[in-house]
Amino acid sequence: MADEFLLEVRDLKKYYPVKKGLLRRTVAQLRAVDGANLSICKGETVGLVGESGCGKTTLGRTILRTHRPTEGEILFRKTDGAVVDLAQLEGDALRAVRPQIQMIFQDPQSSLNPRMTVLDIVSEPLVANRLARGDELVERVKFLMGKVGLEVKHLNRYPHAFSGGQRQRIGIARALITNPSLVVADEAVSALDVSVRAQVLNLLSDLQRDFGLTYLFISHDLSVIQHISNRVVVMYVGRIVEVAPTDSLFARPLHPYTEALLLSIPAPDPRRRSTEVFLSGETPSPVKPPSGCYFHPRCKYATDKCKVEAPPLRELEPGRQVACHYAETLELRGVALHS
Ligand code: SF4
Repeated sequence: MADEFLLEVRDLKKYYPVKKGLLRRTVAQLRAVDGANLSICKGETVGLVGESGCGKTTLGRTILRTHRPTEGEILFRKTDGAVVDLAQLEGDALRAVRPQIQMIFQDPQSSLNPRMTVLDIVSEPLVANRLARGDELVERVKFLMGKVGLEVKHLNRYPHAFSGGQRQRIGIARALITNPSLVVADEAVSALDVSVRAQVLNLLSDLQRDFGLTYLFISHDLSVIQHISNRVVVMYVGRIVEVAPTDSLFARPLHPYTEALLLSIPAPDPRRRSTEVFLSGETPSPVKPPSGCYFHPRCKYATDKCKVEAPPLRELEPGRQVACHYAETLELRGVALHS
């Protein structure tokens, strides 16, 4: 794996105005992404994890520029080696780079147009970006159908004729048809049965090897993240609180929120499940987050300092970053990795 970055996000913010009253005045800001820093190297898989509503989907979509950032930089290395700031691109310049960054959606049922055949669905990005037509287009679709484990003879079928796992394979073929270098997968296996989930995760790993892909894999499910990621980024109320290689993060978390998430993973054997609650309380509203460390109302290690002072994300060890005042002294519990 080369260690030059493919994507580097710097101080990225995405706020939404909260409007009220007849005049629809802005009365507050919803801080969906509140100063995110994140780097992804070519060929790696970075897992982005956090509870529902933590801002991870907004971060993914802001990187893809389906949402316009409020502030910050999204540096992306194009296939010709030039680095562009996606946050600044508009119009034709943005359209030209879009084929290089694609997305796999959570719900293949609703993300595939039921009135289009597989051929039309998978080839649509090629047509929209004028990258291929005619026989060349059909050959490219057939090639990808084979790569994702679908039969070419089903090219003219409609999505309803396929199972959930097969529909997700169609979504993956569609995402890869433009030869992207970065793929953002947002809860890509969450809607699938457990048995199918493992097959699709293995398929994504095979495709990464074959096409040299780089993944930003967004999920609330740490067991899925553990299965596929080289590194993990943990997000809480719009902020990144920990970044670490997957094995170190699972074995020895440095942030109390990561510890709570890990200890909350259900044990596969119901007889070994604990009734202990590791993460109590609600996720705070991103419209009115708590003072100081956003995690302090739920953190069992919090002190008065945590209530007033926000801990910056800092490098504690090579490759490990954490946003906690007491990361050096806390002895947190990890979990065993599943093979
Ligand atoms: Fe907990 Fe304080 Fe660390 Fe925040 S800074 S995670 S409240 S110990």
